[in-house]
Amino acid sequence: MLIKIKSDAPKFQCNACGSCCSHIRGIIAKEDLNFIRENAYGKLPVVQIVPPEQMTFPLWDWEAKRFREWQNEANVDANISPLRAILDLNSNKAIILTYFMNSKTDACPFLREKKCSIYHTQRAYVCRLFPFNRSPFISQDKEYPAEGMFGECGAMEKILPQVPKDFAEMIKFLNEAFPDGSFLNAVQNDLIIEWENKTIIDLMKKNIIKPAINYPYNFLLRRFKNAEKIDFTDFLLECNYLTLKERERLIKRFDNNLDAKEKIIEFVR
Ligand code: SF4
Ligand code: SF4
Repeated sequence: MLIKIKSDAPKFQCNACGSCCSHIRGIIAKEDLNFIRENAYGKLPVVQIVPPEQMTFPLWDWEAKRFREWQNEANVDANISPLRAILDLNSNKAIILTYFMNSKTDACPFLREKKCSIYHTQRAYVCRLFPFNRSPFISQDKEYPAEGMFGECGAMEKILPQVPKDFAEMIKFLNEAFPDGSFLNAVQNDLIIEWENKTIIDLMKKNIIKPAINYPYNFLLRRFKNAEKIDFTDFLLECNYLTLKERERLIKRFDNNLDAKEKIIEFVR
């Protein structure tokens, strides 16, 4: 049965309380935390460099490059450090997939008087997708509970109870209820995760990389520390997996949420 969306359906409006940017350390959805604890410390090609309690928001490698520039402009020391990496036994390099802001406080270092000091920029997906933590496409479960998609946000009170259970209606509803673009950003971020996973598998199949798997975690950490480091998308250039133009096109595609728009088109026509 299709659930009709009322024309007066609520629209999300961020009230700029600053709460989501005030506590960014160790904030991870429970199911992600369990997965990370179980798999991300040496069992899989991608290894988590820091414990979950120390983690803050992840930045894709190209986003970390932008944040390094913005921290100079905003006079901020965000201590941008590697978060997830592959130790490649072929090249002996640590290939960094994501970074995080390892600042001294619990709050994002770019937050000033409850306002983001780089709000005018593209910022990172993780900044632009909130109040979403993830999109509904990450789960194959057609009865995906709406609560599991969102982080804690006071502006969600009226919207949450109205999210339709029917998957197709839910996508349509979310697209309309989040005119700030956070839904599209959440979908695109999940599609980037999918792209990253597929690319790593392809690199392994083609024997371009040979990730260190099933080594003791402390051994991996020592190797990471001493290894030459390279960002994932720089590595894709170095090994001729992508040309410079292809990488530029890819990041532009991500920035413009083109994959997300294609993904939801069938639901919103
Ligand atoms: S997204 Fe929610 S928690 Fe974050 S600033 Fe807006 S209202 Fe506050
Ligand atoms: S960069 Fe801005 S939006 Fe992103 S977490 Fe920091 S304060 Fe929040």
